[in-house]
Amino acid sequence: MLPFIKALWGPKAIHRLDMAMGTVVTQLVHGKGAREAVEATAKELRRLEKLLSFHDPDSDINKINASAGLKPTSVHPDVISALNIALRVSELSLGAFDVTVGPLVRLWDFRSRHPTLPDIGDIEAGLALVDYTSIDMTAEPPMVYVSSPGQSIDLGGVAKGHVTDRMGQVLGAHGVRSACLNLGGNVLVIGVKPDGKLWEVGLQHPAGEQGKYFAVVLAADKSIVTSGVYERYFEFAGEKYHHIIDPRTGWPAESGVFSATIVGESSALADAVATAVLVMGLEQGIELVRRLGLEAVVVTADNRIYATDGLADAIHFVQGLSPCLI
Ligand code: AMP
Ligand code: MG
Repeated sequence: MLPFIKALWGPKAIHRLDMAMGTVVTQLVHGKGAREAVEATAKELRRLEKLLSFHDPDSDINKINASAGLKPTSVHPDVISALNIALRVSELSLGAFDVTVGPLVRLWDFRSRHPTLPDIGDIEAGLALVDYTSIDMTAEPPMVYVSSPGQSIDLGGVAKGHVTDRMGQVLGAHGVRSACLNLGGNVLVIGVKPDGKLWEVGLQHPAGEQGKYFAVVLAADKSIVTSGVYERYFEFAGEKYHHIIDPRTGWPAESGVFSATIVGESSALADAVATAVLVMGLEQGIELVRRLGLEAVVVTADNRIYATDGLADAIHFVQGLSPCLI
């Protein structure tokens, strides 16, 4: 999704748009040195996309997957950082988020022009390969091993968040104090707007048109990350099949949650947790959010909106939609 971002266009604002990681990446950066900073973040984006992609045969992730059950693979430390967060959320969500969901993701090929439903036998075989506990890794030297042939890591649920964090660090190193990054729904706001007011990040309604938002979150120095069933899906025989897979069934998650927005410091953590909540459902999802000290806005299939009480002052609902604070 592309949340609506209301920004004030100052004289020194640099706006840049890239297509990367299967999504639209926008950057709005204010202040002196913004142009150099944005060039550096665009470079960082390309570097990390190459490293973390599930589809690029030369990515570190594909090297690990090609060596599953054979030998450990040397990787860039970025892979270890992203995997650390992914594994933490895999554990805390009791496998609702599972970074070894690769074999199932491949079966549900959302990139195909003419997607079809996977074969039931293939789903059974895929399910047997999903197990995040079979990852062995060391940080020094950075190496990763997955224990059985056919297993595969897919960082799709956390990679955009990790890249957003890194791009934020690059902006920080260039002295940027006011910026807004959006990687297809992974939003990071740095500082406040040049007019000193908080950034306003619009949340898209999962049942609405693209660009229609139901709430605005006011934030400074925060990540605001949304996962939704409407982000990527295909239709087959009149049914919609979305891209977040329940690792217990092998089918698109049917938890009763249509979208989850997580607000926190780390974009990678918020990204993984947003995906986890789509699989875990409202109650267990919110429990995980609380445990990690994060905040959330959840829209359920019955069109109710829930927000954690820490957001009470930071969220504004549009057109009289009233949330349940939990
Ligand atoms: P996001 O857009 O962050 O919610 O991530 C969705 C992507 O995460 C999918 O396109 C898959 O690549 C991957 N994915 C799907 N289901 C899961 C899952 N249960 N656990 C971890 N990653 C998943
Ligand atoms: Mg995610």
